[in-house]
Amino acid sequence: MELFATPPAARSWSAKVRSRGELLAVVPTMGALHDGHLGLVRQAKVIADRVIVTIFVNPLQFNEAADFDAYPRAIEGDLDVCRDGGVDAVYAPTAATMYPANFQTHVQPGALADRLEGPMRPGHFAGVTTVVTKLFAATQPDIALFGQKDYQQLAIVRQLVADLDLGVTIVGSPIRREFDGLAMSSRNVRLTANQRADAAVVSRALGVAITSWHAGEHRASTLVERARALIDSSQHAQLEYLEFVDAVTLESVDDATNGGVMLVAAWFGDVRLIDNQIFAR
Ligand code: AMP
Repeated sequence: MELFATPPAARSWSAKVRSRGELLAVVPTMGALHDGHLGLVRQAKVIADRVIVTIFVNPLQFNEAADFDAYPRAIEGDLDVCRDGGVDAVYAPTAATMYPANFQTHVQPGALADRLEGPMRPGHFAGVTTVVTKLFAATQPDIALFGQKDYQQLAIVRQLVADLDLGVTIVGSPIRREFDGLAMSSRNVRLTANQRADAAVVSRALGVAITSWHAGEHRASTLVERARALIDSSQHAQLEYLEFVDAVTLESVDDATNGGVMLVAAWFGDVRLIDNQIFAR
């Protein structure tokens, strides 16, 4: 497995791969790799000839310094996981390489970033669009895989690629979950045992909503209320938002007849978890 720390090194490897006519997929991550990330890698290996994983805890997308400091980092273990997972190359730049002292250009997302996570995490999505643009520039992929767990991020990245003609095919990958339904996340390791036991309430609440929808309840407000009631009944969860929105525009909808997506953010102590459920037939 190759390991690169600078854009020119990653770019020259990518150029060689593509000159052989091989399809290259990138899986951008912030490390502390878990089975959710590995699911993206496995999917990437099916749809592409070569897979490069990027590992970079991007300071630009953390709106709180404490969250950035507490974010788990495990580069040695991550490299083993990538090697065992059949990854061809890892691009793991330092923050100084990505953002040298005179760094000054940012990629600003549009309306999709104004809702849901946006107001809760000022600057977060501009950090994401900036780093994704840089990671694409360094790795020059044909395909990039992003998890549906970060649903709004996936929508914003699709828009970024369309708006800036980046020429990368974006593939959304299904949410991988723990045995009790909790969406896998690098942040889960920071939950106490009690919070961890309680955290499955988030996916259960989404489950209640989609079951109601399949049973014929199509009022978005009722679906939201049912999910909210379950989360409110749990001891450790502090709900931040729970919304039913259009799957493409992310704007609120009242009538869920034609589907949509329910997105949730909740705090367990000082750990913020997000999850979502797509409503589609
Ligand atoms: P992160 O390291 O948290 O930035 O995640 C890197 C990529 O993995 C993002 O595209 C995430 O959406 C995706 N991802 C993280 N957790 C999961 C999960 N449980 N299921 C599917 N994709 C995930």
